[in-house]
This record gives sequence, structure tokens and C-alpha cells, in this order.
Amino acid sequence: MTWPPLRPELAGIEPYGAPQLPADRAPVQLNVNENPYGPSAECVADIARAVAEVAPTLNRYPDREFVALREALAAYLSRDGFRGSQARTSTTEISAEMVWAANGSNEVMLQLLQAFGGPGRTAVSFAPTYSMYPEYARDTATTWVMGRREEDFAIDLDHARAVVAEHRPSVVLLPSPNNPTGTALPPGTVTALCEAVGDDGIVVVDEAYGEFRRAGVASALELLPAHRNLVVTRTMSKAFAGAGLRLGYLAAHPAICDAIRVVRLPYHLSAVTQAAALAALRHAPELLGKVDELRVERDRTVAWLRAQGLEAADSDANFVLFGRFDDRHAVWQGLLDRGVLIRETGPDGWLRVSVGTAEEMAAFQDALLHVMKEI
Ligand code: PMP
Repeated sequence: MTWPPLRPELAGIEPYGAPQLPADRAPVQLNVNENPYGPSAECVADIARAVAEVAPTLNRYPDREFVALREALAAYLSRDGFRGSQARTSTTEISAEMVWAANGSNEVMLQLLQAFGGPGRTAVSFAPTYSMYPEYARDTATTWVMGRREEDFAIDLDHARAVVAEHRPSVVLLPSPNNPTGTALPPGTVTALCEAVGDDGIVVVDEAYGEFRRAGVASALELLPAHRNLVVTRTMSKAFAGAGLRLGYLAAHPAICDAIRVVRLPYHLSAVTQAAALAALRHAPELLGKVDELRVERDRTVAWLRAQGLEAADSDANFVLFGRFDDRHAVWQGLLDRGVLIRETGPDGWLRVSVGTAEEMAAFQDALLHVMKEI
């Protein structure tokens, strides 16, 4: 018996996380899909004021139901959540009872697995995909089944339906756009999988990068009125430029939000988090203001990589998967030696670069050209 007396399936496992390096070692940080633009002085002052207002009451627990924040998130989703979608009708209005939030969408999805997964139940996704999904399953003792994606990283509906029919999952995790490939899901795929899963389970469309999708690609929010088993998760970490806030949320049928209340820890969203997120939401237009610029920079990066003779996956997110390299670690290390930190993730031979400022992308391109000459 080893000590400490860990669950045997956790023995020897490294904690998940991209390398975090200080800015003096890696001045160009393009590894965790953050928004490179920080808040304005005005927004910073508003957040600081909001936190100062709750500070005198920190001897009390915060609002356990975070009503004001749920209302603000619902208003935000109803107003801006459909950006880039074809149509928005009154039936796509999101109310506060349809919204739930936690410390990052990672926590939202863990809570979903705590409520809807568990021993004897199965969760499914399609590889390559976000590497935290199997961890949610492991931590909640949910059986994990990984289907596969096509060569172009799309999901083949026949294959997906067959996986659902065979394993009868209680949770299907569908990121759109997918991490690390950037692939968005057509609404038809979401609809078909909601129908295939039926009342036996929930279909979670993880739209962490939803705001970056290309024009004409619809959000799964539009499908909520038609499917009571559909959950759409979002985060303030990416387009919203609030990774440090730790605020993720979802929209779903009110009964699903209610069910999560059974497994959430009491007061899981601190008063400071609630105040800061509410203040940030008041500055939504500013914080989301660089999304269009980042999409242009992303498309430019894809075109540039292809012009160098490399492969680059089509992306609806704020990152690009590119390759293929015989020794991707050497490329990753070569870039880091030139101060550019990207992510060694995805299928063998591929690397992922987050989209930064134009200057950061120029530094990445310059460093990659040097590295490619050396390998
Ligand atoms: N979903 C996907 C697909 C992600 O890539 C990430 C972050 N890397 C998350 C969810 C979680 O983000 P957060 O907890 O910051 O909301």
C-alpha cells in the first residue's frame, strides 16, 4: 500500500495543466487560449469599486443562489449570446431560471457530471477533444467512452449515433468549437444527437469559444426551446477576456439548473466573484470588443501557416491547430527558446497556437520560420 492512501485509479497521475512560465522566460504567451487584451482603466475601476462595495459584508456568506448574477447572465445571453447566428426569435429568450454559473465552465461541467453521471452511468465524447472531459468522468466515477472524429475533425453522425445506441450515455460532451481542433458543429448534428439521447441523458454543447465562430455558424442556444435535454455551456474566460475571473455558466431547461443545486457546494460563488463578474458584464461591449480583430488574426494565421506548406485546421475558435511535425516537441521547444510559448497538444505531430495580438503573431511566425529551418 502506498501513502497517501489515494484512490488507486489516481495513483501516479500528473495534475492537468499547461506549463505556466513567467513572462521573462516566455514573453509571447500563446498557450492557453486567453484573450490577449486586458480591461480598460475604466473597467478596472468599476470592478474595484464593485469589490470594495461587498468587502464590508465579507463576514457574511454570499447569495447562495447568485440571483443578480443569473439575471445579468440571462440578459447578456438573450442580448448578445446569439451574435453571428442566422435568426433570433422571442422563443430564444433566456430567463434567469435557465442559467447556472460556477468557478469556470470546468466547474460547471464537473457539476453536470456529478448530477447526471456517476457509477453505472456513461459519458461520451469524440476524439481528439478537450482533455479535461475524461477527468470529469474519472473524478465522478462515470464510465468514459471516447468515439472518434473524421480526418478533418468533423463528427460523423452515423458513427456518433452508433456510439450513443451502443452505450446509452447519460452525458454527451460536444464542444463547439472543439478544442484543440477549432471545429464547430453544424446545428443538425446537435439536433440529431439530442434526439438520439432522448430523455435518458443530457447533451452538453460546450461553447467556451462560441463567440469566435465564423459568420453564419449558429449557436446551440437557438436549439434550447426544441430540446429539454440540451445544455449549452459558456465562459467569461475566452472572448470575454476574463480568464482570471473564473466564471463559467450554462443555459438549459430550469429543471436541469435545479438538479445541479443538489450537488453544488453551498456558497460556491464568492461575493467577490459575483461582484466582479457583474461589473465585468456591465462592460461586455468593451471586453468583447476585440473578438472581430482576433477572428481576422486567426484567419490570417491559418492562411500564413498553409502558405508555409504546413497543414492548419479550419478554426472557429481563437486558436489554430497546425502541423504536422515528425518531432513536435522539438518545434515547441525551439519556439520557447525564442520566447514564444505555445501548446503541445492534439493528435501526434500537431501543435496548437492561441491567437494573440498582431505583434505576438508576427513574433510567432518569425520564430517558427527559424525553427523550421533548423529541424
Ligand atoms: N471547455 C473548453 C473546450 C476549453 O478549452 C476550456 C478551457 N481551456 C474550458 C471549457 C474551461 O474553461 P474555464 O474553466 O476557464 O471556463
